[in-house]
Amino acid sequence: MLAPITDPAILEGYLRDASNLAGNAEMLFRPRAAEEVAEVMSWCQSRAVPVTVTAKRTSTTGASVPMGGALLSTELLATVHGLDDVDGGVILADYQGEVERHGLFFPPDPTSRHDCSVGGAVACNASGARTFKYGPTRPWIEAAEVVFPSSELRWVDRATPSPWPVPRWTEPRVKTAAGLYPAGNLLDLVIGSEGLLGVVTRVRTRLLPLPRHVLTFLAFFPTRSSMLSFLGEARGAGPRCIEYFDRGSLALIRGRVPEVPAADSALMLEVEHEGEAPLEEWYERLVRHDAIADDTIVVEDEGGRAKLHAVRHALPAAVNEIIVRNGVQKVGTDFAVPHERLAEMLELYDRVRLPTACFGHIGDSHLHLNILPANTEELAQGRATYLELARAAVAMGGTVSGEHGIGRLKKAHLALMAPPELFEAWRALKRAADPAWICGRGVMFDPA
Ligand SMILES: Cc1cc2nc3c(=O)[nH]c(=O)nc-3n(C[C@H](O)[C@H](O)[C@H](O)COP(=O)(O)OP(=O)(O)OC[C@H]3O[C@@H](n4cnc5c(N)ncnc54)[C@H](O)[C@@H]3O)c2cc1C
Repeated sequence: MLAPITDPAILEGYLRDASNLAGNAEMLFRPRAAEEVAEVMSWCQSRAVPVTVTAKRTSTTGASVPMGGALLSTELLATVHGLDDVDGGVILADYQGEVERHGLFFPPDPTSRHDCSVGGAVACNASGARTFKYGPTRPWIEAAEVVFPSSELRWVDRATPSPWPVPRWTEPRVKTAAGLYPAGNLLDLVIGSEGLLGVVTRVRTRLLPLPRHVLTFLAFFPTRSSMLSFLGEARGAGPRCIEYFDRGSLALIRGRVPEVPAADSALMLEVEHEGEAPLEEWYERLVRHDAIADDTIVVEDEGGRAKLHAVRHALPAAVNEIIVRNGVQKVGTDFAVPHERLAEMLELYDRVRLPTACFGHIGDSHLHLNILPANTEELAQGRATYLELARAAVAMGGTVSGEHGIGRLKKAHLALMAPPELFEAWRALKRAADPAWICGRGVMFDPA
């Protein structure tokens, strides 16, 4: 049996995730093979030691933070066995790079893909900008090798029925990562289960041919209504992503990229194409909807696209700098609403009386409103505002989490959209899978 690491100096590096929630653990296991994962699980099970699966800790919800017990790190399960066959601990972008070198494409693209693991993306059913066209991680996973809480190690796919009672519920009709997925098969139950139903040690993926050409552009709009009317038409014209930046976000970007013009908002689109770039068609569309068309930044090559992505990725960094400077925590939403309620949700965001920057996946009507409190009083105000906005999103038929999941920090928000009977059904499933509730205890929902 693999010896646990108990050196506090080593453990220290595993006790927080990107939410900055701090936890504690007595021991750490770093298995090198699925069989070792099963041994660790069996050891924890026989002693009723809680076990938290930890991968790259980019979770923003405290999901990978242990609250006592053992940590099971997937970091050494890091082999790409074949183009469609990869270990859970491999960094997602490394795997995608390997696949792309062979002319193939694995679409899921969380913004954290250079830092997060394949298994983490599966456990969180991670999404990204390209989810607008390709959906979240789920449809790109064909099968998974899983160590279940019972310590059984096996491959599962969509033909593997669930041995546990499956809760029946209808997810909101929006992009959502809140709660256990209502599936009768084991693969879909494990995907998005945030480490509650087992350890994903290896997956078989579904790949596409790598798109030959991608046209990327950043277009600026003088008013909210011009942006929304363009968005309405753009959604139907087949881009693979439509990303939004509000005035506050553009101001933050301008701090780093001065040539960004003053505008109400901007949209960044990526359009895959075979032959000539459909530049004229998109330019006409922009003009038709009163965009500031001449300021549009267009790139057609990988280098240019990487620069635009760097602009997009500079935003969370700029937000974090402000938060660190102010010495408080960020309050960031992850709500998605039905398309027809998006304008209403944006108006609610406008009414927030604290500094904000709003950006994200507007193609899916899924935005991140970052509330930037200057002090602890404003932090309390920001949290109260968050709760009001969560209630509004749910009342509109939306979700409290479009992609980041529930973890430890958003359990109260999940209760806004799931009735008590559903929590009971989820608990019954969890008890059937893991009677001593050792895996991910305190994540998503509690034993009672
Ligand atoms: C800057 C930034 C940008 C982000 N952008 C996005 C985004 O665009 N879209 C998005 O969806 N998310 C995003 N995230 C959230 C996060 O990156 C993703 O959810 C990611 O999938 C987590 O992967 P990880 O390897 O870091 O997992 P961890 O944070 O280590 O773990 C997350 C959860 O998954 C469980 N877990 C991890 N690996 C396994 C495994 N092999 N088997 C079973 N359970 C496991 C853990 O127990 C935990 O519950 C972002 C985070 C940051 C910090």
